[in-house]
Amino acid sequence: MSTISTAIDIHPSYQPDGIEGQGFFATSLDKVVGLARANSLWPLPFATSCCGIEFMATMASHYDLARFGSERLSFSPRQADLLMVMGTISKKMGPVLRQVYEQMAEPKWVLSMGACASSGGIFDTYSVLQGIDRIIPVDVYIPGCPPRPEQVLDGILKIQHLAETEQRRRRDSPEYKAMLAQYGIE
Ligand code: SF4
Repeated sequence: MSTISTAIDIHPSYQPDGIEGQGFFATSLDKVVGLARANSLWPLPFATSCCGIEFMATMASHYDLARFGSERLSFSPRQADLLMVMGTISKKMGPVLRQVYEQMAEPKWVLSMGACASSGGIFDTYSVLQGIDRIIPVDVYIPGCPPRPEQVLDGILKIQHLAETEQRRRRDSPEYKAMLAQYGIE
């Protein structure tokens, strides 16, 4: 006769390094903050053309970006910490993109999706910005024209890894400020 166990074993799929014992777990504040940030990224979708459609597929039920804690899109820069740039960015659009980036609070990350956002793509013309990293710093690039939703998920996972492992003091460091200064951002 089979017996039904009522005991509930909880096995977290991921937990940071720390010290564990009967009924307690201790780790450093950096790791807890990193864990929270990485699993609650709020993306701002800056979509100007076809790559944005692929992002919509990534949000939809089949790929379900909500599984990674990023289902809450923000169309306000002040409530977003992941800027996702998707599509062709014209030079006229450049200042708008830059203003959106500057309005986002730290810590923030930038994901460049697709050939157009990353390098201008096939549009090697006078009117198209040949890569958004000419005006704002980029953390992760997703190649492709368009990238598949699996690639978008892979890019998000890479951003999560950056967020999770980042030292809390990085944003105040001279190196980070020097990097922003290269873009003329204070
Ligand atoms: S990379 Fe390709 S799919 Fe994406 S916006 Fe450019 S032309 Fe469209």
